[in-house]
Amino acid sequence: MSKVNKTRLCHGCGVCFSVCPAEAIIMKNDGLNNYPSVDERKCTSCGLCLQVCSGININCERSMSFKQLDCEEKYYMGYSDNSELRQKAASGGVITQILTSLMSSGEIEGAVIATPGNQLEQINAVLVEDVEQIKGCSSTIYYPVSSCAVIKKLSPSKRYVFVGKGCDLDSLSRLQKVHPWLSKSIHAKVGLMCHHTPYAKATVELLKSHGFDDVNKCSIRYRENGWPGKTAISDGNREVRLEYSQSWGKHLGLSRNMPFRCMCCTNGMAGHADIVVGDAWKLKQSNDNSVKGTSLIVCRTQNGESILKRFNTSGQLHLDEVKYGFVTECQSNLIAKNTKASYCLLLLRLLNSNVNFENSFSQQCSNIRPRDFFTIRGIKNQLSAIKAIYMYKIGKFDC
Ligand SMILES: Cc1cc2nc3c(=O)[nH]c(=O)nc-3n(C[C@H](O)[C@H](O)[C@H](O)COP(=O)(O)OP(=O)(O)OC[C@H]3O[C@@H](n4cnc5c(N)ncnc54)[C@H](O)[C@@H]3O)c2cc1C
Ligand code: SF4
Ligand code: SF4
Repeated sequence: MSKVNKTRLCHGCGVCFSVCPAEAIIMKNDGLNNYPSVDERKCTSCGLCLQVCSGININCERSMSFKQLDCEEKYYMGYSDNSELRQKAASGGVITQILTSLMSSGEIEGAVIATPGNQLEQINAVLVEDVEQIKGCSSTIYYPVSSCAVIKKLSPSKRYVFVGKGCDLDSLSRLQKVHPWLSKSIHAKVGLMCHHTPYAKATVELLKSHGFDDVNKCSIRYRENGWPGKTAISDGNREVRLEYSQSWGKHLGLSRNMPFRCMCCTNGMAGHADIVVGDAWKLKQSNDNSVKGTSLIVCRTQNGESILKRFNTSGQLHLDEVKYGFVTECQSNLIAKNTKASYCLLLLRLLNSNVNFENSFSQQCSNIRPRDFFTIRGIKNQLSAIKAIYMYKIGKFDC
């Protein structure tokens, strides 16, 4: 695990913490990201942590390629029919609606999600076991959370939904091979479309730039009240609300706040999920927060399809089927980033680094069309990949 840290390929999922039978691993945060700290005296060198780690084991098979699992992918725009829930959520409140409906009908007893807490240091992944808790955790958290570390709390006799980013779901799928009971216990996997998780320092930078010096006393809601939502920061005495363009645009979204592992990630569309949810960015007309949020949904499995259809029929979820072209128009940034990531991976592979590539060279290149290689965009992508790998090789944290 130290090797994964040193090579900066850890994305902080926490699955190594959950799998370790010797309890030799704890998760820490170094101001940038969550990472595992190993107690060498307890470690028995069983190797399970490295086996389940999706940081160092890179498989591009389920990257941006579609139509790959047990049914044809389907694409929807949708939102919760509960207007309060929709207003509080990150986009259309689809995830919170699915979780609350599944829990109210008794199909699940818990969900692994993330909580904003009341203070910065309380932000993390949590196991929630009632509807009100789920509602309290709606919206997006642009801060490191270790979703797979929560798996340690799950019980084989209960059923759960796991919500996470592509990297978390990749790690979970690996863990399911080690612990087959998890396949029965995880009723559904819900993915978040993910460009990157900003370093923790990006949030600190944002708070300080608005005069909140005692950052640990602050609470932050990254997106609330409308769509795309304002970022609300409070220290108990003072509260500010920032436009999305001031928080994501000026701090969280900057490349210097993007971990190297995210630069190399081609799994931003959460290839291991039953249902993947993101923003229907194409619908964005203005920063007017009266605009009602709508989620963009990619449904990958029959399990996902049956959940969506059921809640659509019962009137809890509004769904409109859309074409694949609508998905690519909404997610042009994410698709461009995933293509850049393929160039980074190719360079990493050519440099014979410590990464374990599980897929073939051609699968890894699947995001790169040969005709794009010599276009201006292609050349720009190659240059930014060279820069990222150079910074990586000389050990600089910001690119
Ligand atoms: C780091 C990050 C990057 C993202 N990048 C993109 C992007 O590039 N393009 C895009 O379209 N969408 C992106 N999203 C997804 C988007 O922000 C919304 O989360 C998504 O549209 C779900 O909306 P919703 O209204 O259906 O969910 P809601 O009903 O608001 O529910 C969201 C659920 O996700 C959980 N959650 C929030 N943050 C995390 C987290 N970090 N880890 C695990 N669970 C979490 C919450 O606890 C809640 O249960 C990103 C999300 C994250 C966390
Ligand atoms: S399993 Fe997850 S937290 Fe552990 S080293 Fe790998 S990426 Fe990091
Ligand atoms: S970009 Fe990839 S590695 Fe980074 S947080 Fe998102 S899914 Fe994980």
